[in-house]
Amino acid sequence: MNKFLKGLAISGLAFSMIAAGTSAAAKSTTATNNQTKGKSKNLIVLIGDGMGPAQISAARYYQQYEKGIQKLNLDPYYVGQATTYADRGEDGGTVVSGIVTDSASAGTAFATGHKTYNAGISVSNEDVSKPFASVIEAAELSGKSTGLVTTARITHATPAVYASHVRSRDNESAIASQYLDSGVDVLFGGGESFFVTKDGKGKRTDKNLLPEFEAKGYKIVKTAKDLKALTSKNAKALGLFGGSHVSYVPDRSAETPSLATMTSKALDILSTNKNGFAIMIEGGRIDHAGHANDLPTLVQEALDFDAAFKVAIEFAKKNGNTSVVVTADHETGGLSLSRDNIYEINIDLWDQQKHSSESLASALNEAVTIDDVKKIVQNNTWITDLTDEEAQYILDGDGSSYKREGGYNVVISKRLLIGWSGHGHSAVDVGVWAYGPIAEKVKGQVDNTQIAFAGAEVLGVDLKKASSELQSKYLYPKFKINRDKEVLYPAQALAKALGVAYKESGSTATLTGKSVVITVDLSAGTAKVGGKAASFTVDVDNGTLYLPLAAFNQATGKTLKWDTLSERIILK
Ligand SMILES: [Zn+2]
Repeated sequence: MNKFLKGLAISGLAFSMIAAGTSAAAKSTTATNNQTKGKSKNLIVLIGDGMGPAQISAARYYQQYEKGIQKLNLDPYYVGQATTYADRGEDGGTVVSGIVTDSASAGTAFATGHKTYNAGISVSNEDVSKPFASVIEAAELSGKSTGLVTTARITHATPAVYASHVRSRDNESAIASQYLDSGVDVLFGGGESFFVTKDGKGKRTDKNLLPEFEAKGYKIVKTAKDLKALTSKNAKALGLFGGSHVSYVPDRSAETPSLATMTSKALDILSTNKNGFAIMIEGGRIDHAGHANDLPTLVQEALDFDAAFKVAIEFAKKNGNTSVVVTADHETGGLSLSRDNIYEINIDLWDQQKHSSESLASALNEAVTIDDVKKIVQNNTWITDLTDEEAQYILDGDGSSYKREGGYNVVISKRLLIGWSGHGHSAVDVGVWAYGPIAEKVKGQVDNTQIAFAGAEVLGVDLKKASSELQSKYLYPKFKINRDKEVLYPAQALAKALGVAYKESGSTATLTGKSVVITVDLSAGTAKVGGKAASFTVDVDNGTLYLPLAAFNQATGKTLKWDTLSERIILK
């Protein structure tokens, strides 16, 4: 066993060194010079959402034992591992340490190089947050083409961190709207519902965004056939392959493209720009299958991702001026490839489930009797001997929000001899794989922020400059809405962010702006501007002063605006 592992590690290292060497040598002088200088014209980032070490092992074992394929496409490019931890901060009302990250904060780290709180989409961890630019946004500013591809909703956290900025990942309507102004040329994924209004079966309350994307030159496609028909002349394309996430591999119809197909088309389109491109490609549903504890589906999703990697690496090798980096945002499910002290796992059963557990959820919820459950399980799996206890367990649900689907996966996982720590994420490090000049910069044990810095470095784009451009335009404050539907901001934090001096002494707060002084009587809840009674609302909540934008407009002499959809202050 040890000998085998040692041999594998050495051959992997040797392979990636040879691969990097030959590609540089085979290309034109310019390309070779660029490669030796540690630069690449193009950058491909691939993220396996929820793809921890056990997920990779499971996919490889499956290939070995079920398909006779010894290695994943990824395997020869392994260079090390990355941390995943986030900042301490609020997560759904409770403060968490940040050690267990979500996709938003992990994504912010590897897209922008900054840690933030869970749920934050490329904004800082402050009461008044600043936006941080991503590698994709910096590449866009330097004239490169850009793309985002995922099997999750295109408005989901991982793509969102690359081209939008919001305090909460749940604000997917704002994320879709920000894509419209992002300049990102190719957007492929699911999530049509955040682009259309309720009468178009969507979730938006304001307007249908699709005509606006068309007006900006985007060709909109919704099926695998239409995707195929796109040509490299379609410089801008929006592919929406589902109202929510793209269907899981075992549930897909001919209408649904694979991640590899989306990747291939995106590269065709983006590679026509002579200035190069940057793209992020996400296997977004490895995570979802992990959350549900559905191992057979998880393995198929991981292999779908590995197939997309193959498309990317073949492009990079042929192109000769492309860096590829692969990692995960975190592990999901606490997957363990063992259970109950048994030194065995039933890999031969991993391909004996027809459809995902998700596709069974509604049938399971409608089941009334033990026999109903037995029939559903038998129709979808190899199990013809489901016991009454197992069927009853499924009927009772597993006690999580997954209910009967969760119960089903508990039964299946026991029979597969694999385990889960729960339905959430875990804090283990994740693998890093790389090819081209970026490989040197992400090898060994790295922090996940290094993925962003290394990407910007090989492309020669400036993250700091792109961030300061964004920061001159927007602030993302915490806020509250009072009974009169007025938006109020934490005064001290916003004053500081706007460069207005704020002082509190006794029951008086003073905001000193350029030309005006605002004095607030905190106990009376009244304010004076330059000695006269103020016309704006004063709100003191648990000792914290909140003021509306009108107060800050007076203090700064500016016309700050509130963007209700993106929940941000527009500075200019
Ligand atoms: Zn997740």
